[in-house]
Amino acid sequence: MLDVQLRAQTSYTPERQRRSEGDERRVGHERTQRRQHAHFCTDFRPLQSRTDAVRSEAEQPVRSVLSFQKNLHSSHYSRNHTHATHHTLDQEYIGQAKCLLRKVGSWSFDIFLFDRLSNGKSLVDLTLHLFIDYGLIKLFRLDLLKLRQFLVMVHEAYRRQNPYHNALHAADVTQAMYCYMQEPQLSESLTSCDILLGLLAAATHDLDHPGVNQTFLIKTNHYLASLYQNASVLENHHWKCAVSLLRESGLLSHFPSEDRQNLEERLGSLILATDISRQNEYLSQFRAHLDRADLHLNNSQNRHFILQMALKCADICNPCRPWHISKLWSHKVTDEFFSQGDSEKRQNLDVSILCDRNANTVAKIQIGFISFVVEPLFLEWARFSDTPLSQIMLGHMTSNKYKWTHLPQEDLRENHKQHSGSSQRPNAVGFYS
Ligand SMILES: [Zn+2]
Repeated sequence: MLDVQLRAQTSYTPERQRRSEGDERRVGHERTQRRQHAHFCTDFRPLQSRTDAVRSEAEQPVRSVLSFQKNLHSSHYSRNHTHATHHTLDQEYIGQAKCLLRKVGSWSFDIFLFDRLSNGKSLVDLTLHLFIDYGLIKLFRLDLLKLRQFLVMVHEAYRRQNPYHNALHAADVTQAMYCYMQEPQLSESLTSCDILLGLLAAATHDLDHPGVNQTFLIKTNHYLASLYQNASVLENHHWKCAVSLLRESGLLSHFPSEDRQNLEERLGSLILATDISRQNEYLSQFRAHLDRADLHLNNSQNRHFILQMALKCADICNPCRPWHISKLWSHKVTDEFFSQGDSEKRQNLDVSILCDRNANTVAKIQIGFISFVVEPLFLEWARFSDTPLSQIMLGHMTSNKYKWTHLPQEDLRENHKQHSGSSQRPNAVGFYS
C-alpha cells in the first residue's frame, strides 16, 4: 500500500495552484520510482480539482467524447435536416452542454437540460468530466478509453423504461455527490481514493434497477430475493453489477489485487448504505457522532461513514432541489410507484404502500416522504455541514413541502402535463435568450 502524500489546494489562489503543480511533479517522480505499483489507495491525501492546468486538460477529452456522440447519433437527425443544418445544431448543443458543465458544482444545475443537450448521455458525460476535473485519470493511471467504455456500459445497464430509476437519476445523484464532496469539510479531508469511490458509487448505485421495490421482488419470488435472502436485495444487486462492469471493462485491472478487492468492498459498503429501510440505523449513528462531536475526518473510517451519509443525501435530495426540478422528479418517482401498483393489481397481489394510484397523489406521497425521510436526514446533514449549500437545500425543501401542501391539485396536475413531454431537445437558438 503506497503512502503518497498529496497535499490539497482548497481554492484557486496562485499559491495553492503552485503547490498543486509541485504535487503533480512529485506524483510523477514517485510514479517513476515505483513503476511496478504506482497507484492506490487509502492513504492518499486529498486531491483537489479545478486548477487551471487541470481544467485546460479537461476540455479536450470532453470535446472528444461529445463529438463521438455527435457521430453516433447523427443519423437520427439527418432525416429531417440537411447535413449542414444538423451539423450546426449539434455543434450548438455540444457547445451548450460544455457551457452547462462549467456549472456542474451549482445546486441549481439542471440535469434534465444537460441530459437533452448531451443526447441522453448525461451520466457518461458528467461522470467523465468529473474524473478529468479531479485529475483521477492521471493519478490512478486510468485508460481513458476503458473509462469511457465502462461509463457507457454503466449507462446501458440502467433500464431506460423505468420512469425514475434510470441513468438520469444516477447522473443526478453523481452531480449531487460532487456538490457534497466540494463542501469545505469534505474537500479538505477526502483522499483521492475517497473521491474515486464517491463518484463510482454515485454513478453505479442503482445499476439494473428493475423499477419495482424489494417487497415486490420478495412477494413474486424473484430469484434476486432468494439470492440475497430478502435483505438489501436491490442494493446487493446494484453492487454486484457495478463490480461485474468494473471487471469486464478492465478499468482497474492494473491495480494490485489487494487494492482492487478493497475498492470493491468499500464500493459495496457505500451502495448498501442507500437501502432506505436502513435509514434509521444510519441516522442514529450520525446523530450520535454529531452529539459526541467525534467525526474527525483524518480518520479513514469516519471519512467512509461521511461518504455513506453524503451518498444517502444525494440519493434522496430531489425535494431539496429548486421547485421546477424537484417537481419533475416527484412525478417520475410516482409514475414508477403507480406502475408497480398496476402490476400488483394485475397479478392479484396486495398493492404495496404508496403504489395504489387510486389511494395516493403525488402531493400526498411527497409530503410524507419529506416529513419522515428527507427532513430528518438533511437536518442532521446541516448540523454536520453548516454551510450555505445546506441552508439552500433546507430552504428548497421547506418551500417545496409548502407548495405540495397548499397548491391546488389542479395546478399540480397542470404542471405535470406541461413537463411530461419535455424529453425532446430544446430549441438551440432560444436557449439562453
Ligand atoms: Zn437511487
